[in-house]
Amino acid sequence: MRWIVAGASTIAAEYMIPAFRAQAGSQTGGEAGGDVRCVVSASVERGRDYAARHGIPHADTDLATALADPETDAVYISTTNEKHRDQALAAIAAGKHVLCEKPIAMTVADAAGMVLAARKAGVTFATNHHLRCSASHRAIRALVASGRIGRVLSMRIFHAVHLPPHLQGWRIDNPAAGGGVIPDITVHDADTVRFLLGEEPVSVVGAMSASGMGQGVEDSAMSVWQMASGAMVQSHESFTHPFAGSGLEIHGSEGSIFATGVMTQKPLGRVELVTARGREDIPFAATDLYTTGVAEFIAATKGAGRPAATGEDGVKSLAIALAVREAAASGQRQTIHYPDL
Ligand code: NDP
Repeated sequence: MRWIVAGASTIAAEYMIPAFRAQAGSQTGGEAGGDVRCVVSASVERGRDYAARHGIPHADTDLATALADPETDAVYISTTNEKHRDQALAAIAAGKHVLCEKPIAMTVADAAGMVLAARKAGVTFATNHHLRCSASHRAIRALVASGRIGRVLSMRIFHAVHLPPHLQGWRIDNPAAGGGVIPDITVHDADTVRFLLGEEPVSVVGAMSASGMGQGVEDSAMSVWQMASGAMVQSHESFTHPFAGSGLEIHGSEGSIFATGVMTQKPLGRVELVTARGREDIPFAATDLYTTGVAEFIAATKGAGRPAATGEDGVKSLAIALAVREAAASGQRQTIHYPDL
């Protein structure tokens, strides 16, 4: 897979370029550039500097120029959120497969349009919800699906972190770029809940605040979701909590799952199952989340399976996150409207 990286971003530098290069059969990068052909940045200097630092052979300021290169197969989009839609539509129109960062768009209608465009063009379009690729989350999902905890009654997801200084920028002060903790973290939690429980939230109530970091956007949110089965979910996201730790609990009629330190980019944390038989540690592999996600994306482009999180998953996680924000802004319970795809 020969990639265009749209966005001289931190996530591409820290996780995705290494994940592209970790694929079996890929080149190793360095001067030859590996499997990343080009980075697209709005700034000539930033793009050139980024390409040099990451061993990428080309830098462009114009996505159309990069897309015209027939030697590329796929585009990874990790610009600020307001750019995702137009860049994805351009890549799809050029016949490239697209792996798009979350939130995939600023509105649910735009997100649905991206999925439909990819379907029409016959290209793979996926959302980079990395937590689905964590062996810990896959182990939890299997426990729930196997009935080990019986009927799911409730879930609690705690994902209040401290946003490191190098990631603060647009996330804490730029609503037009898609800033705020809800499009940043609640959207991941929405996908995680859907993935682990295998059902959709139908309505939400919520509250949000700017508790010290956010300027013009929320930096903390709490919400309660009613699931289709009647189960309830409590969700907490923040940029301002240095010592809270992350995790989730799922409580069922026959058992409970306690997972700590698992809402992370690294294959870390602990999963425990508690039933009438006692407490049991659930083992899981320490595989890199992003490498797994890229491998499944590449397989899907070749007709084998589906991406870990599809475009449709990206539409749904956005619909839930935006409903949380609307519920918090209005003080009214919001029914979640999923577009008919
Ligand atoms: P960054 O802030 O690192 O990069 C986003 C954009 O900011 C870049 O495309 C770049 O524009 C611009 N930029 C970078 N450095 C500068 C600078 N010094 N001055 C001005 N502009 C600059 O974003 P992240 O990597 O944190 O996030 C990018 C996307 O990835 C978001 O959509 C986010 O939600 C998502 N994300 C997903 C994660 C996941 O695990 N799935 C984790 C982290 C982020 P240009 O390209 O024009 O140079």
